[in-house]
Amino acid sequence: MQICQAVAEQDFVIEQTEDARLEALQQLRLLDTSASESFDRITRMASQIFGLPVAAVSLTDQDRQWFKSRVGVEHMSIPRHKAPCAQVAETTMPVVINDLLADPFYADSTLGRNGTRFYAGAPLVTREGFGLGALCVLGTEPRQASPAELSALVDLAAMVMAQIELQHAFGRLDPVSGLPSRNQFRDDLADLARDGQGEPRFAVVVDFARPDQISQISRVMGGARFDDLIREATRSLRRILGPQQALYYVGLAQFAFLSPPEAAAETYIEELQALLDQLRAAPTVGFVTDISLGARPFLVGEEAADDLLRGSASAAQDARSASAGVMLYSACSDRVHRRQYALLQDFAAALVAQDQLRLVYHPRIDLATGRCVGAEALLRWNHPVFGEISPAEFIPIVEQTSLARALTQWVLGAALDQLAAWQGGGVALTLSLNISASNLAEADLAQRIRLALQGRGLPADRLELELTESAIMNRPEQALAVLQDLAGIGLTLAIDDFGTGHSSLAYLQRLPARVMKIDQTFVRSLSGAVAGSDLVLVETMIGLAQRLGYRVVAEGVETAEVADLLARLGCEEAQGYWFSRPLEAAAFADWLADRAINAPAP
Ligand code: C2E
Ligand code: MG
Ligand code: MG
Repeated sequence: MQICQAVAEQDFVIEQTEDARLEALQQLRLLDTSASESFDRITRMASQIFGLPVAAVSLTDQDRQWFKSRVGVEHMSIPRHKAPCAQVAETTMPVVINDLLADPFYADSTLGRNGTRFYAGAPLVTREGFGLGALCVLGTEPRQASPAELSALVDLAAMVMAQIELQHAFGRLDPVSGLPSRNQFRDDLADLARDGQGEPRFAVVVDFARPDQISQISRVMGGARFDDLIREATRSLRRILGPQQALYYVGLAQFAFLSPPEAAAETYIEELQALLDQLRAAPTVGFVTDISLGARPFLVGEEAADDLLRGSASAAQDARSASAGVMLYSACSDRVHRRQYALLQDFAAALVAQDQLRLVYHPRIDLATGRCVGAEALLRWNHPVFGEISPAEFIPIVEQTSLARALTQWVLGAALDQLAAWQGGGVALTLSLNISASNLAEADLAQRIRLALQGRGLPADRLELELTESAIMNRPEQALAVLQDLAGIGLTLAIDDFGTGHSSLAYLQRLPARVMKIDQTFVRSLSGAVAGSDLVLVETMIGLAQRLGYRVVAEGVETAEVADLLARLGCEEAQGYWFSRPLEAAAFADWLADRAINAPAP
């Protein structure tokens, strides 16, 4: 009885060690990966040293010996049962069998039955002592291994292990997700090209969250929560894709994998759609994020890994914008993304260059008196390669990044310098600046503006800040607190592009804003509108805003007719091409002087 128990305990210990050994092997993610020159080089050396035609790096999986590298063998694996390499892995000792047929245990093994007579294997052992498999050489004639040959084999096995460790380290594994990184994706793709040149595949990127969601999650819940989210996403993907699918972590909240070689476009997109549905249904992941998938078809060996990932990521982004979930790569939208990427890369340099950024000034006209009462500062970028670029193109991109702070700081500095110059020249104007939604996350915004005004001896009531309705509605609570700070230092606040966001007036009323700028789409539709719903809409907006205590500014006035109509409707101020295009600082001063002479009497 006691003996039985001892044997059972021993079996249990062996099983445990075998489980741990298998886990160590699986974590290295070597099984079923492509052949690789770094291993093949060592295998060839082993075969040459012994002067034998067959050599392999053979890994001991649950029930097979799988060859990571092989010389002189066609198949990828043999059964583990009675494989000498399994003995090497289990004992972590070299094994030499001079003649398999003369060996009572191995005579009827797979190798023995298939004509192998000689075997020598040196163990592949991890630092923790787990035997992963063997570097082995095989011969079809009985022979012996000299001590020199055997010690060379042991050395080469150690080199295989060094290579495995090297692959595993050095930026090849992402520390949070535990997945192979973008570097590993590059190498694996190069390895794949050796076996599967020209094979059609898809590179798929799963993009888990919008950049603003990522920064919001990190800010509100902390970086550790973001890491948790990545781990949860990894687990969900792993569960859905299965343990065999190679999966990579290639960018912030971005995962990548390759389709199987036989995937056909239409059915594969359907499969990806099903994958997306499963991911969205995953309990925690889908809840806080906005997942999208992009797939880029390619021929193995004909595309660079980075281009593939960028293409698939850009398709994922398009999928999100189109609310499509999954999208195939399109070269056309990729060109747009590439330009956006280039602009973003170049903007930091533009901020410090002397001659790339400047402000232009768009007059604001008091409709009752016809006088220019202020100006809106608008940013212009003369890019060294692309030339003049509209703020409508580059600001939405820059706003998404940490450069938004520097952008607003630059505009603030340049605009206040100009305001100080006007003030010095006896021109009394109010200047408006546009600020971005992300500026609302800067705790020191009001403080910075106060210091900038103080430094130039300017009163705060000369400065107005415009914030779009949608920016405010993006972060309503934060907006309220920051706007209160800004109003607290005496600035005027304006709600820009009113009518395009989805704000509730009840909320807007809580904000300390005093100016409402009606978006130009409503104003421009007034042209030729004698009566009709456009007119009723603008009339209602003006009336409502005024009753709520706002001063109303109409943007986009392009004709005298619309200017007159707005004046009749009681709108206080207007801005638009009818009065002037936005002007360079010097031209603005001339325009103003000219207008003072010719202005209609109040
Ligand atoms: P916005 O603040 O609503 O500025 C008004 C835009 O409408 C300006 O375009 C102006 O040139 C244009 N506009 C004014 N009157 C008319 C008109 O009668 N007809 C037509 N067709 N257009 C008119 P711009 O300068 O291209 O600026 C576009 C947007 O870029 C601005 O819209 C603003 O949201 C943003 N932006 C510009 N400068 C800055 C800046 O310094 N910081 C930030 N955060 N955003 C800026
Ligand atoms: Mg504006
Ligand atoms: Mg506007």
